[in-house]
Amino acid sequence: MAIIVPQVPLAVSPWRPLLVDGGGACKAACKYCPDPTVQGRPLAEADLGEWAVGTRGVQGINIIARPYPEVAADLYCLVQKLVVNNPALVIVTLGPGAPIDTWGLQHLKEAGATGVCFSLVAVTRSLDASTRPGRGGRQWWDTCWELVDTAISLWGPGKVGLTLGLGLGETEQQVMATIQQVRDRGAVSYIYPLMTTAEIKVSTGKLYRVLLARHLITTGQATSNQMQYDDFGQVIHFGVPRDRFYEIMQEAKPFSLDNLWLDCCSMGWQAELAAGLFPAQPGAEMVPELIRRVCSVDWREAWLTRTRVFELEGVDFDEDEIEAENGSIYKMIAELGRAGRSN
Ligand code: SF4
Repeated sequence: MAIIVPQVPLAVSPWRPLLVDGGGACKAACKYCPDPTVQGRPLAEADLGEWAVGTRGVQGINIIARPYPEVAADLYCLVQKLVVNNPALVIVTLGPGAPIDTWGLQHLKEAGATGVCFSLVAVTRSLDASTRPGRGGRQWWDTCWELVDTAISLWGPGKVGLTLGLGLGETEQQVMATIQQVRDRGAVSYIYPLMTTAEIKVSTGKLYRVLLARHLITTGQATSNQMQYDDFGQVIHFGVPRDRFYEIMQEAKPFSLDNLWLDCCSMGWQAELAAGLFPAQPGAEMVPELIRRVCSVDWREAWLTRTRVFELEGVDFDEDEIEAENGSIYKMIAELGRAGRSN
């Protein structure tokens, strides 16, 4: 199956991001936004030639679009110019609240965009609603899935992406359910941990388990339902036989930068994202370390996440009762969670 774009490792050969904005701060007011005032780099005519494949090693251009009224028309013109001037792949990433419809997507396709990517960010509808409080009405969650379906009907399977953030208080099980939904629709999911704006800091263990499970779902080796989860929604079995698990660890493909996608809430974090991942092609001696990372659990993160899920679902959550019913390990985890909240 054709995948949206073979993203080149960001740290080695830049997947050049270009931010298109309406000349002012973004009004989407996402709680996880690192800086809505980040300005886009204006594109000079002279740049167009330089951006051709081979001159600067640019293999793809990711246009990250802010939501503002004229965004569709601006994107249309920019994509047309880029496509005419160089043969690099041109992808458009659209963030929350993007005022684009079937007409806008059709025009992007006609202009020559290789594909589109949508920043869904939150992996559940209730998490999405909690990230832009006070907006009321229709959620980005609903609009985004409709746009994905429209885009797939225009570009075809494998040419449409969705970025999913980690760190808003989602369980790994919820992430996997959404990744499965993305695959079943014919789109491709990309993962990145939110950095300074994470509600709950993403641990190495969670990032690695999510990347591994995402790889297995995306490549059709396992489904989210074949995986097993603990009481905290953490993956405890990846739905593949033990031998295959070790082979995948040796390949280390799930942990490369190709699985990440830059959008407006991850701009400027390439170096930090790269530092948290495993280098490509680790030697056999590194496999135990890779497995250690996949198996590591941050119980404070697990407890805080479970608490956040209950809070969003409106479930009355009695920590003392859960401790009493489940014994000493849960008591210890609860204490870690409380300590995490009071920090
Ligand atoms: S994350 Fe993107 S869409 Fe949201 S406020 Fe920031 S720039 Fe705007």
